[in-house]
Amino acid sequence: MKYSKLFPKTLKQAPSGAESINQQLLVRAGFIHQEMAGVYTYLPMGWKVLDKISDIVREEMDKIEGQELVMPALHPADLWKKTGRFTSVDVLFKLKGAGGADLVLGPTHEEIIYPLVAEYVSSYRDLPVYLYQIQVKFRNEPRAKAGLLRGREFLMKDLYSFHTSDDDRNSYYKKVREAYLRIFKRIGLKALETKASGGTFSDLSEEFQVITPSGEDTIFVCLKCGSVFNKEILSDKKCSDCGGSLKQEKAIEVGNIFPLKRSFAETFKLYFTNQSGQQEIVSAGCYGLGISRAMGAIVEVSHDNKGIIWSEAVAPYRVHLVGLDLGDPHVESEAEKLYKLFLVENVEVLFDDRVNVSAGAKFADADLIGIPYRVVISKKTCLTSSRNSGNKLEIKKRSEKETKFLSFEKVLKIVKDSG
Ligand code: ATP
Ligand code: MG
Repeated sequence: MKYSKLFPKTLKQAPSGAESINQQLLVRAGFIHQEMAGVYTYLPMGWKVLDKISDIVREEMDKIEGQELVMPALHPADLWKKTGRFTSVDVLFKLKGAGGADLVLGPTHEEIIYPLVAEYVSSYRDLPVYLYQIQVKFRNEPRAKAGLLRGREFLMKDLYSFHTSDDDRNSYYKKVREAYLRIFKRIGLKALETKASGGTFSDLSEEFQVITPSGEDTIFVCLKCGSVFNKEILSDKKCSDCGGSLKQEKAIEVGNIFPLKRSFAETFKLYFTNQSGQQEIVSAGCYGLGISRAMGAIVEVSHDNKGIIWSEAVAPYRVHLVGLDLGDPHVESEAEKLYKLFLVENVEVLFDDRVNVSAGAKFADADLIGIPYRVVISKKTCLTSSRNSGNKLEIKKRSEKETKFLSFEKVLKIVKDSG
């Protein structure tokens, strides 16, 4: 992509009212645009990042035999009245449909997936089944001021698993846990498994928490055994696993997994016939992961005073090619050539091809956007001259200070190998 064609351009300043770091940087760098509190447009570069996170999540869900589907965001309120959550969930968006019917914008999907599965599952032969979606959720959050960390409309991956027994559910639950740890590692987040309450879903749950001062949750980490507890379930000042002392931290909840209460299966009559022909209740789990919140969390933990520092797996582009001295026709044609060479090699590249913009302004934009590798081509570092006279391209990692001068072949090897 050529920067001259990219929509939109970077902003000099964050808009007033952007309180959180992720919102300030993501808006300034052109990844998101705020429509109202907690509601954002994902701009082209922002959507690329979300797509990369989603693809990693998909890969890991598919590895544990998850099957992807998409359920509606608009729900009949009857299903929510059946579980009692029409009144008990305080962040529920309620609206009226044609003819005055009560409708709900889905904050989660138990009310849809239980009746759906109940319609198709009747025998032990139909189980287990693991279904997930990556879909937009709606919650009327009272404090939606933390950028992508707390949306009123946001992107979540939710997986639901259905089993013939709690034992089978529990062993699948462990696989999901491991998949979550792999996902967070791959996208560059250090997420700690945390014991937490189960909300309206279950008695207890496990959260995945990323420690950072801007986090809204308070967690306690045991200095002796490493166990982590959400403040909401803590009854003692000592670790309930080993008696060790606890350290208090602020953290962002990026994922939450729950063994589901039986009441959902009872409400929606989700039973199956076992091998001896008797009816039994289906056991289930649900597993949420905040895709858009994870994007915000990455920015919160990975930035400096100049801008974002994307991890390589989720960066919108791999290389930010900065063209300098482009008024010179020779340099310009060399820069074009280099841009095409990257494309031919399947390297995702953003080419700053603007002519009348200073080197300083281009570098500032590169730092703000946060693409992992910055490669500079200029009068001094031209491609043909590099072949002919030993001059080289300048390459710098966004996360490091050091610049290196290397041949195109070496640059290519670095940016390709790192992925
Ligand atoms: P919180 O306590 O932060 O309000 P929650 O516990 O209600 O979140 P869950 O119902 O567990 O959220 O949802 C699963 C995941 O969806 C969360 O772990 C989080 O990553 C993400 N998520 C929840 N609410 C939001 C939101 N308002 N904006 C963005 N992501 C969210
Ligand atoms: Mg939660």
